[in-house]
Amino acid sequence: MSSEAINQEQVVVHGTPVVAGIAYAPAAWTQRPPLPPASAPDLPEDEREAEIEAFDRAAAAVAERLLQRAEAAEEHAAEVLTMTAGLAKDKGWRREIVKAIKTGVPAIQATMAATEKFVLLFEKAGGLMAERTTDLRDVRDRVIARLQGNPEPGIPVRDHPIVLLGDDLSPADTAGLDRNDYVAIVTQGGGPTSHTSIIARQLGIPCIVAARELELIPEGAEVLVDASVGTVTMGVPAAEAERLVAEDSARLELVRAWRGPGQTQDGVPVQLLANVQDGPTARTAADGQAEGIGLFRTELLFLDTATEPSVAEQAGSYGEVFSAFPEGKVVVRTLDAGSDKPVPFATLAEEANPALGVRGIRVTGHNPELLTHQLDAIAEASKKNPGTDVWVMAPMISTVPEAKWFAGLCRERGLKAGIMIEVPAAVILIDRFIEVVDFVSIGTNDLTQYTMAADRMSPHLAEYTDPWQPAVLELIQWTADSGRQHDVPAGVCGEAAADPLLACVLIGMGITSLSMASSAVPAVGAQLSQVTFAQCQAAAEAVREAEDSGQARALARQALGLA
Ligand code: PEP
Ligand code: MG
Repeated sequence: MSSEAINQEQVVVHGTPVVAGIAYAPAAWTQRPPLPPASAPDLPEDEREAEIEAFDRAAAAVAERLLQRAEAAEEHAAEVLTMTAGLAKDKGWRREIVKAIKTGVPAIQATMAATEKFVLLFEKAGGLMAERTTDLRDVRDRVIARLQGNPEPGIPVRDHPIVLLGDDLSPADTAGLDRNDYVAIVTQGGGPTSHTSIIARQLGIPCIVAARELELIPEGAEVLVDASVGTVTMGVPAAEAERLVAEDSARLELVRAWRGPGQTQDGVPVQLLANVQDGPTARTAADGQAEGIGLFRTELLFLDTATEPSVAEQAGSYGEVFSAFPEGKVVVRTLDAGSDKPVPFATLAEEANPALGVRGIRVTGHNPELLTHQLDAIAEASKKNPGTDVWVMAPMISTVPEAKWFAGLCRERGLKAGIMIEVPAAVILIDRFIEVVDFVSIGTNDLTQYTMAADRMSPHLAEYTDPWQPAVLELIQWTADSGRQHDVPAGVCGEAAADPLLACVLIGMGITSLSMASSAVPAVGAQLSQVTFAQCQAAAEAVREAEDSGQARALARQALGLA
C-alpha cells in the first residue's frame, strides 16, 4: 500500500477494494479511548469480592446490550452481534479475570491482561479465530468503559453523511449502520473476510480495507472514496467529486434494473450462476437472476452433527436444492471438510497447518465411504429431479490419480464429474487433469491462498489474498486456455467471480461460467452488459502485463473503457 501526493493539496491512499461504489463526504474516525495503565496498586483483600461482582455486572450489561441490538438487526449483523455477546459471556475469559482479581489485580487491569492472553491464543490458532481478536478487544473496551462509569465506545455520529475511517471496525460498530449516514467505510486493517467486509457487503456500503496509510487523512477532511479501484483521495475539487458520485448512482440504477440471462453488450452469452449451501439459499437464488447453481457447498449438513448423516437424509437435503432449479444446472461440490470447515467425525483434531493438511478430497481419501455415501445420495436426489442438470465436483484436488479416482466414482453413478482448481499443482499439470474430467471450476479463494502462500483468513495479508495478483490471473488464464483446447468447460466459483470488473477479465480469458453469491449477480450482469466481448478479451490480455494487483485493475479498466 502506498500514498502519493499528486499536487500540494491532493493525497491518495490505496487499499484493497471490497464493495464497489463511489462516495464523497467528510471523514470521521472511530474513536477508541486510550487504554488505562496496564498495572495498578493491589486491591485490599476485603474489596476483591465486590470487584468480581462489578466485573460480572459490567460484562453482563455489555452482553445484554449487544443481544438487544442483535434482536433489532438483520441476518449477518444479528449473527455477529450475538457472537460478540457470546465473547462477553465467555467462561474461560471470565475465569482468567476472576483469578487475577482474587490475587488483588483490579478488574480493569485483569480484563486487559486476560484479553491480551486470549488474543495471543486466537492469533496462534490462526484462520477464523485470528479474525475474532478485533471482536474480543471491542468487548474489553466496552467492559472497561462500564467499569469506569463511561458510555460504551462507538462509532461517530454526525448530523450529515460521513466516510467512516477506522483501524478494523468491530462487528458491534458496523452492525446496523445506515447507508445514508455512512456513505463509505475505509479501514487500515481487515481483509476480504473480516467483519467489516461482511457487513459492508450486506449493507451495500462502498468499502476499502487494508488502507495502511489511512492516518494521512485527518478528521473532517473531505474525501473521495472510490471503492471500485480502492482509493481514498483528499483534495479533489467538489464539483469533480460530485460528478463522479452522480455517475456511480447511474451505475447503481443499471444494477437495480438489470435482468438476466447474462450477456455482453454484443450478445455473447455468459452463464451467471449462484453459490448456495442449502434449500433456502437455493430458492433465494432461483427467485433472483441466477441461471443455476455453480457451487453447492455441501458442508452445512455435516458441520453441526456428531455422526455422518444417512444417505436418505443427505438425498433429501440435496433434493431440496435441485428442486429449486427444476430445469437448470446445479454443480454440487462434495464435502470440503477440514481447515476452516472442521467436521467433528471426519477431520483430524490437531494439525499444525490445517490449510495444508487433511482437507477437501484428502478427508474422503482417508474415509472413502464418506464420499461414496455422498455420491449415492446425490445420484438418488438427481433421479428424483430428472430435469435438473446435476454436475459433481471434488474440492482440493492436487494429483491426477485423485481426479481419475473421483471421476470414476461419479461416472459409475451416471454423474458428470469435475474437479475444483484450487491448488497450483492442478494448474501446473492442467492438461493432464482436464483430460480425465468433464469440467473444471476454479476456486479462486483457495487458488489465491496457495499461490501467494497467504492465509485467506488473515486480516494482515489483504494485498496478497487478492485474486487480482498477476500470478493468480496467469494461472486462471492457463486453465481457461486448457479448457478451450480440450473443449471442457472451465468456470470460476470463488469470490473473484463476484467482482464486476474481474468478471469481465475472466470472460475475456475464456472462462465459461461465473458463480457467486446470488446478491452479486445483478452487479456482474450489469457490468458485462456494458462491455463487448472483444473489450473483455483486450482486458484479459492487458492484465498479463501488470506487476501488481493495483496495476492489473487499472489496465483492465482502461481496456474496458472504464478508466
Ligand atoms: C474457493 O476456494 O474459491 C472456493 C470456492 O471454495 P471455498 O471458498 O468454499 O473454500
Ligand atoms: Mg476452496
